[in-house]
Amino acid sequence: MSLFSVQSQLYSTFNFLCPKCHEGKLFEHKILAFKGSFEMNKSCSNCQESFMPEPGFYYGAMLVSYILSSFFCLSFIYFCKLVLGFSTNQSFVLLLIICSVGFIWVFRIARSIWINVHIKYQGD
Ligand SMILES: [Zn+2]
Repeated sequence: MSLFSVQSQLYSTFNFLCPKCHEGKLFEHKILAFKGSFEMNKSCSNCQESFMPEPGFYYGAMLVSYILSSFFCLSFIYFCKLVLGFSTNQSFVLLLIICSVGFIWVFRIARSIWINVHIKYQGD
């Protein structure tokens, strides 16, 4: 089984698919729909697995989001300053622009990682 094969948890994580069957979609709309970008499906359209196993399930996804964002922001600032030679202000303006566009993806990937950690693949 390769790292990104259909049976892999990484496959469903990065494609925002149901962690149990890798068929149904976690989110209702496309990422840049600007309407309902944060809305998740209640359950899988293929296997009926609930995407909200218990109230407050996604509180842990906030920790994942925080870790991802912190790592990205620090790495990005260091990259801009040390490799590209930007000033601190230029680096933060560029970071702000990238974060304002990418926060929906971070929200989604954090939830996808969280549910994939807790629900395992049970396909063929
Ligand atoms: Zn499913």
